[in-house]
Amino acid sequence: MNRHQVTVVTGGSRGIGAAVCVRLAADGHDIALGYRSDAAAADEVARSVRESGRRCVTVRMDTSEEADVDRLFDTAATELGPVTGLVNNAGVGGPLGPLADADAAGLRRALDVNVAGYLLCARRAVRDMSGSGGGAIVNMSSAAATLGSPGEYVHYAAAKAAVDTMTVGLSKEVAAAGIRVNAVAPGVIRTEFHADPERPDKLAAGIPLGRPGQPEEIAGAVAWLLSDDASYATGAILRVAGGR
Ligand code: NAP
Repeated sequence: MNRHQVTVVTGGSRGIGAAVCVRLAADGHDIALGYRSDAAAADEVARSVRESGRRCVTVRMDTSEEADVDRLFDTAATELGPVTGLVNNAGVGGPLGPLADADAAGLRRALDVNVAGYLLCARRAVRDMSGSGGGAIVNMSSAAATLGSPGEYVHYAAAKAAVDTMTVGLSKEVAAAGIRVNAVAPGVIRTEFHADPERPDKLAAGIPLGRPGQPEEIAGAVAWLLSDDASYATGAILRVAGGR
């Protein structure tokens, strides 16, 4: 792509989002990094981005708040230039355990961040990219969308299934505007997402490749979907789950 690439990454301060920021910077993207609470972690990722010669702005925000989403995209456009990419990544697991035991506020919060937040960010990205040369969106789904996550977080799996559906629908809606919309569905990845830090290793035996994945192995898939090498890919849900 000859265009200057400016990519918004939500949840870029830790885990998969942090690896995505670093990988995209190596591929030549300037980065607008949205994070919720951990300013020190966001600053550390920004430092890595700048070390590879790219620019980075960090914005403390909540993806489920419309005004915060607008502030993130406004900052990206003002500081870095027209937005060409979005990685819709900020997510939360919500209450852990059987649905029968889940509290309503926790369920609502998980749907707010994992579904409404993705829709608000995608809506703003489409508004910005339409009529300005198009762009690409990658939604972070999960293998949970098809596995269902019984006994752990059925609500989370349902939210990720909604992410898959919005990927398919939006890809068709905005294709003519030159905007590609795809998703990556990771399996078990070693990050602080897991309330039990041992969870990735406990699940390893059920993963055909025999191990949890690393955030960098997801970042590579995201980078490809944003690149010109994926110019004919839209509406795709790329499972990167070690065969699970
Ligand atoms: P993580 O290590 O817990 O990091 C989550 C990131 O999202 C942090 O940067 C956090 O910011 C940010 N965040 C959370 N809620 C936010 C909000 N409302 N607004 C803005 N930022 C918010 O999680 P991860 O494992 O990297 O997961 C990233 C994505 O991959 C999620 O969508 C998750 O569902 C998906 N995924 C993860 C796995 C896995 O095994 N790890 C598997 C499949 C899918 P602060 O640090 O500042 O709070």
